[in-house]
Amino acid sequence: MPTVDQIEPTDSAHPYDVTAAPDPADASAQAYKAQLRDYFDGIGFARWSAIYGEAKLSRIRHTIRVGHQQMLATLHGWLAQANLPHGAHILDAGCGTGILAVTLAQQGYTVTAVDIAPHMVQAATERAIAAGVAEQITFHTGDLEQVGGRYDAVVCLDVLIHYPPALFTPMLHHLASLSRGPLYFTHAPYNHLLAAMHWLGGHFPQSHRRTTIQMIPDAHVSAALTGAGMRQQHVANISSGFYFVRLLGATPQS
Ligand code: SAH
Repeated sequence: MPTVDQIEPTDSAHPYDVTAAPDPADASAQAYKAQLRDYFDGIGFARWSAIYGEAKLSRIRHTIRVGHQQMLATLHGWLAQANLPHGAHILDAGCGTGILAVTLAQQGYTVTAVDIAPHMVQAATERAIAAGVAEQITFHTGDLEQVGGRYDAVVCLDVLIHYPPALFTPMLHHLASLSRGPLYFTHAPYNHLLAAMHWLGGHFPQSHRRTTIQMIPDAHVSAALTGAGMRQQHVANISSGFYFVRLLGATPQS
């Protein structure tokens, strides 16, 4: 049987690995996060900064770029409806290369942008400097669960899609505790196609060369939100080729 590295795709294949989820039962949260950090700081950085960039991509990766752009456009529509005051302070949790953080700063928000992968924070900082908005953004390298403070809104895009249910819930609770207003996030919904790929892929050994997508059933997400004292306000399924996420907006229950 080929190892995952032997079947590791050329650029024509998609960068998600729905096949090799580490077992959260024997991987502590810290070890799991360290693995994600190493991925997003290494090979994942190259992959995702290309997808979030502008250079030409393979067809499959292009569908991911387009889906991500659609997701961002939907988020911006919801944020506009939220009518946050000018200069409102938004936390971008898991900022990646800083696409959202820079756009938010350009719209007049104050932003704190956090990412666990130093290369991502560096790329986001460079993007902010190039866009002339670095003064409005505070960058921080670290785990979003170590972030404190209170923000007018918290946004966490395409981060929780990498966390299994047992880690998803505490992260969501922490993110909710940081917002005095809305919380926006994406998760990977449970669906049969992904579930089948997941099952098939169970035969392959674990790889550090791709990331994993962790599907969370809707009922689990709802329960986590309720437990965090939030109620769902918006939902959109964003689907474009290999990009398939559910974007949610929630507000404090009271
Ligand atoms: N939100 C960005 C980037 C998504 S890629 C966007 O949508 O464009 C996922 C990012 O989450 C990676 O940069 C990864 O380093 C970061 N990440 C994963 N786990 C994290 C954690 N526990 N704390 C902070 N960042 C994390």
